[in-house]
Amino acid sequence: MKTAVVTGGGSGIGRAVAERLRADGYQVATLDLNPSDEKFAYAADVTDRAQVDAALAAVRESLGPVTILVNAAGMDGFKRFQDLSFEAWQRLINVNLHGVFHCIQSSLPDMFEAGWGRIVNISSSSAQSGQPFMSHYVASKSAVNGLTKSLALELGPSGITVNAVPPGFIDTPMLRKAEDRELIGGTVEDHILRTPVRRVGRPEDIAAACAFLISEDAGYITGQILGVNGGRNT
Ligand code: NAP
Repeated sequence: MKTAVVTGGGSGIGRAVAERLRADGYQVATLDLNPSDEKFAYAADVTDRAQVDAALAAVRESLGPVTILVNAAGMDGFKRFQDLSFEAWQRLINVNLHGVFHCIQSSLPDMFEAGWGRIVNISSSSAQSGQPFMSHYVASKSAVNGLTKSLALELGPSGITVNAVPPGFIDTPMLRKAEDRELIGGTVEDHILRTPVRRVGRPEDIAAACAFLISEDAGYITGQILGVNGGRNT
């Protein structure tokens, strides 16, 4: 049975991805700042390489080699660019980009050994459209898309596919907190009227895309940015 690690698995999209992969028959471990109380939920800050390496070692010990990685841990941020401190810029890039770097590098040896691997990076539809007051967030997610394309070329010959899923407008604690702080330009209900499929996205919508990209059926798909956004970005 293959083993998957899902970062950010304690909440929202990461949690739904972990549940879906478990239902699909994978062994699943999660990494999060605040892990859930499920089995194989590990506490780790993805910006801290030693913590990531220790968590991955613990997963290997319990569940065997990690050949599937879904990077869903992330944070958002809202600030006018001219008011954005370099510290806030660095912190966000550190979590959303450097965290992905650490988790991929830490799990790659198992994938090379197996001659098979699947990496899915959760980026953001804002990297397609841009987003005012989120320059650091959009920069970090655009970098994740670029990293995805480069690694697809580099790792394809080793049997490893690398794809990105940029979600748009998914009903998670991250979205609801931003709504409560009046940072999304209206309410979720307002946005539904502007969304072609006329509903908010569900974490399970992202999980379904991840499940497909991880499956054997998707073995010829790599370096792709598969938008899941109800038609908000095409
Ligand atoms: P969420 O509910 O806030 O989940 C994110 C998870 O990542 C949380 O459990 C969070 O822990 C964890 N996390 C944050 N920083 C971490 C770190 N340094 N190390 C380990 N874990 C960390 O948000 P979500 O909406 O599911 O977001 C999941 C991913 O989708 C993110 O990368 C986000 O940028 C992306 N995304 C979401 C949407 C959307 O509409 N919801 C749209 C575009 C992109 P804490 O809660 O303890 O901080």
